[in-house]
Amino acid sequence: MTAVPVALIQVTDVRRLTPHMVRFTFAGDGLDDFPTWPDQQLKLLFPRPGQRAPRLPDAADGDAMRWYQAYLALPEDERPWMRSYTVRSHDPVRHRITVDFVLHGTTETAGPATRWAASAAVGDTLARYGPAAEYARALPLDRADWVLLAGDATALPALGSLVEALPAGTRALACVEVPGPADEQRFTTRADLTMRWVHTDGRGDALPAAVRALTFPPGTVFAWLAGEAGTVRALRRHLVGERGIEKQQIDFSGYWRRSLTQDDAPTEEDLAEARERLAAARPPQG
Ligand SMILES: Cc1cc2nc3c(=O)[nH]c(=O)nc-3n(C[C@H](O)[C@H](O)[C@H](O)COP(=O)(O)OP(=O)(O)OC[C@H]3O[C@@H](n4cnc5c(N)ncnc54)[C@H](O)[C@@H]3O)c2cc1C
Repeated sequence: MTAVPVALIQVTDVRRLTPHMVRFTFAGDGLDDFPTWPDQQLKLLFPRPGQRAPRLPDAADGDAMRWYQAYLALPEDERPWMRSYTVRSHDPVRHRITVDFVLHGTTETAGPATRWAASAAVGDTLARYGPAAEYARALPLDRADWVLLAGDATALPALGSLVEALPAGTRALACVEVPGPADEQRFTTRADLTMRWVHTDGRGDALPAAVRALTFPPGTVFAWLAGEAGTVRALRRHLVGERGIEKQQIDFSGYWRRSLTQDDAPTEEDLAEARERLAAARPPQG
């Protein structure tokens, strides 16, 4: 029987990286034997008001689907909020992971994950679900002449882990939208990376306009897109329709949806894209 990959994690360090990004270091069970790969997503579970730690369902029989049903069966006002995040780094020696949270919105408009990140401190407790083999993906970044990476601030943790893992000399062009110049980050990479920063225009057009204006290097490209779902759709349409890139050469993820929370039901467009992603799914990494 395989265990469901759920465990409590405690904050051991908090560091403000930029005005809109805060890095949390977590310790907890299972971080000694923790699978890692770039662009590694996991679910975080956040306590409800009045709880010191998120209430978790019983995972005794190790079945992921039954665990999820038990999670959904918890009373709504006790059920932890579940949100998707990225493992920014894993320290196998100290058994720690770091996760970078974008601070978006205001106290009134931000969701529960962002409200938690805005005020959390050392000792606070969340839970993680994952990483799990079903999320493992081997991106074929080495099967093209160059790599395009485009996204918004929520994509930065995954994008950072990807560029840090690119083989020496890989030609890469990254275009990232952040709120302002102070939100730009620096990455260490062996790749031949060009970073283009775009600052938010408030209308959602800045990133697609910047990508449309890019001069692409010659040769075949593999593109990785992540960020607000509508923006990712616009980018993908541009790459397929106007740049003639084959759909299989594009990995895309809508990370959040304007005016919708992660608890809201998927739209028709979300479902259609999920079907496309499933159809294109590559076998998990070993
Ligand atoms: C695979 C994956 C990996 C991700 N990795 C990261 C990561 O490493 N770091 C990270 O910060 N985020 C990451 N995200 C995005 C994150 O899950 C969402 O931003 C999530 O909605 C935040 O939850 P919340 O509780 O703050 O807001 P929700 O309750 O989901 O939404 C509340 C409101 O906030 C709005 N909103 C949500 N996110 C944003 C945003 N970024 N900017 C502006 N408005 C927003 C929504 O439209 C909604 O109106 C990832 C998402 C996915 C799918």
